[in-house]
Amino acid sequence: MRHYNPSEIEPKWQQIWADDQRYHTNESSAKPKYYVTGMFPYPSGAGMHTGHFMEHSIVDAVARFRRALGYNVMYPIGWDSFGLPAENYAIKTGRKPRETTADNIANFKKQLRSVGASIDWSREINTSDPEYYKWTQWIFTKLFEKDLAYQKESLQWWCPKDKTVLANEQVIDGKCWRCDSVVVKKSMKQWFFRITAYAEQLLAELPEMDWPDKIKIAQTNWIGKSEGAEITFQVDGSDDTITVFSTRPDTIFGATFLVLAPEHPLARTLLTDETHELVENYINDAVKKSEIERTNDTKEKTGVFSGSYAINPATGQKIPIWIADYVLGGYGTGAVMGVPAHDDRDFAFAEKFELPVVEVIERPEDDIDTDACYHGEGGLVNSGAFDGTRSEDAREQIVAWLEQEGKGKSQITYKMRDWLISRQRYWGAPIPIIYCPEHGAVPVPESDLPVLLPDVDDFQPRGDGKSVLAAQEDWVQTTCPVCGSPARRETDTMDGYACSSWYLLRYTDPHNAQQAWAPDKANYWAP
Ligand SMILES: [Zn+2]
Ligand SMILES: [Zn+2]
Repeated sequence: MRHYNPSEIEPKWQQIWADDQRYHTNESSAKPKYYVTGMFPYPSGAGMHTGHFMEHSIVDAVARFRRALGYNVMYPIGWDSFGLPAENYAIKTGRKPRETTADNIANFKKQLRSVGASIDWSREINTSDPEYYKWTQWIFTKLFEKDLAYQKESLQWWCPKDKTVLANEQVIDGKCWRCDSVVVKKSMKQWFFRITAYAEQLLAELPEMDWPDKIKIAQTNWIGKSEGAEITFQVDGSDDTITVFSTRPDTIFGATFLVLAPEHPLARTLLTDETHELVENYINDAVKKSEIERTNDTKEKTGVFSGSYAINPATGQKIPIWIADYVLGGYGTGAVMGVPAHDDRDFAFAEKFELPVVEVIERPEDDIDTDACYHGEGGLVNSGAFDGTRSEDAREQIVAWLEQEGKGKSQITYKMRDWLISRQRYWGAPIPIIYCPEHGAVPVPESDLPVLLPDVDDFQPRGDGKSVLAAQEDWVQTTCPVCGSPARRETDTMDGYACSSWYLLRYTDPHNAQQAWAPDKANYWAP
């Protein structure tokens, strides 16, 4: 009896499967359809590790099971080859990302073929292929036309090691997702996708999703919707106002102080001669600390009195304005109203700095909670005309009253932020925008796409806040698509996720040169 010799028998059969296109699929089958795939891999290492195929073996098993049940099964694959992982691999190995990516893909492919994965190789896609990123750029121009892609100057997370900005989701516990460096804030003009426009839609559709509850909860928290009110406080003896957001406008009569973030635009204008030095020093120290350090609830709160007062719009009383680093500049309005009787953080702050505590919601007699603050609902006290009103009802009534007085309005806020997509790195799809002195930012017309990523020898980040493309003068110089005058290209590239956010659609029509995908094909394969 002969022994099983894998290096002899397996290549023979793999060739037969490849030649008879066993796993190729199309839309003309009479069988019911079934579309299954895993997350496509980053070809950012010399080869696949067992973890890659741990995921793909599950997909492969599902695909085979469905085929056996008589389905028309599509199991495609592609390569998430743009972005930091691939570029960092190239830097590490001292070669160009274009070359390392091609080599890595060839090896991943060889490995997947040799384990016998039942992949439809005719649908293979690669995000760093101009055939593919042409359509990522086209999607960008469509979003730009709808005002869903826009530019804004803002403080951004910056990784000093990777020398690029990071999206909020790429900062984990104050550190870079790729290299673990502590990130810092830097002010830059950047491109964003307006994902917040879809916050309500995302929330509304979440319950219907066939996902584990854990994921649904994480998504809901990430969107972070809170309903409340924006309340405006007049600065005493000044025309300036300070706006806060509160989910508990029913406690406004208990607001005995305001706290501003050190980054708040008014922070430095509120100082008096006596407080000047102390406050300046406090602000300078605070902005150097990380958000994690600043919002750590186990640490004792710090803060300084600004020297100025605001008028509580409900009571008409003067309340002190403090500056404290536990309030963050980049979140909400950068100012909060302190209601120490009904909020733990405010209570800790008031206790430390001996600020008045005024109870405005009565604790029920049967309340067994021994916390210093009462957080629940109840009848209002010390609240003028609203005394005796239930807090649930008072929320609406107080907002209506503030609105009538021009001192507030109801407001919904989200924790979710727009998606920062500019990267000052080489290995990504160039952002298809041209700057004309007369017409401003103009999208590259579809007929001129793709904007090819030029081949450069030195692709390492320079650390000046610009991508290396900014140094490619021949490439940067172009003409305005509107008027034909000399103009300059945007030199930032898109985050790798811009390309990997739509590949499931491209699989349905992977080689279409006229469209990102044909609607009839996408409709056939989509659920
Ligand atoms: Zn990093
Ligand atoms: Zn022009």
